Amino acid sequence: MYEEIQKYIRDVADFPKKGIIFKDITPALNNGQCLQHIVDMFYNRFKGAKIDKIAAIESRGFLLGAPLAYKLGCGIILLRKPGKLPSEKIKEYYDLEYGSAALEIHTDSIRNGERILLIDDLLATGGTTEAACKLIKRLNGQIAAMTFLIELSFLGGAKKLAPYGDIVSFLKY
Ligand code: AMP
Repeated sequence: MYEEIQKYIRDVADFPKKGIIFKDITPALNNGQCLQHIVDMFYNRFKGAKIDKIAAIESRGFLLGAPLAYKLGCGIILLRKPGKLPSEKIKEYYDLEYGSAALEIHTDSIRNGERILLIDDLLATGGTTEAACKLIKRLNGQIAAMTFLIELSFLGGAKKLAPYGDIVSFLKY
């Protein structure tokens, strides 16, 4: 099934800047059967894992996190870029190749000790997910696992994230 899904991941050279090969998942989202396979793959892996909430990273993480939360019967937490969340929130900065970025979370989105499954489409250097992990920990959430459709293993993100918990990636490059 992984090979089937892989066919719907498009490599776009030099996007968003020269030297980056962007893994475009829109063809996979665009195909109903492929989208179902992807969501089912996450669901089958985590259905017994006692997840209280999914935490999804803006914006492609939302597209995978929402159907997974529905299937698991749990809630979803939005980890958003600055300025998008309306209520009381906290922020973590992280480094990008050039400059820095940040993620925010609503302070009332996690209760003490809740088991959180963190999801994004792709793990690259791990900076984004590390910021997400820090936010969850600051709200006393427990990271059940971090999961990705795609992992760019050669960038070493898994090593950076290892202290925060288990990593489950389905397609590795
Ligand atoms: P990082 O913080 O380096 O792990 O980057 C992860 C975030 O950037 C994810 O939200 C990805 O969607 C996006 N991203 C980074 N590199 C790529 C890539 N080569 N193709 C597609 N998305 C990427």
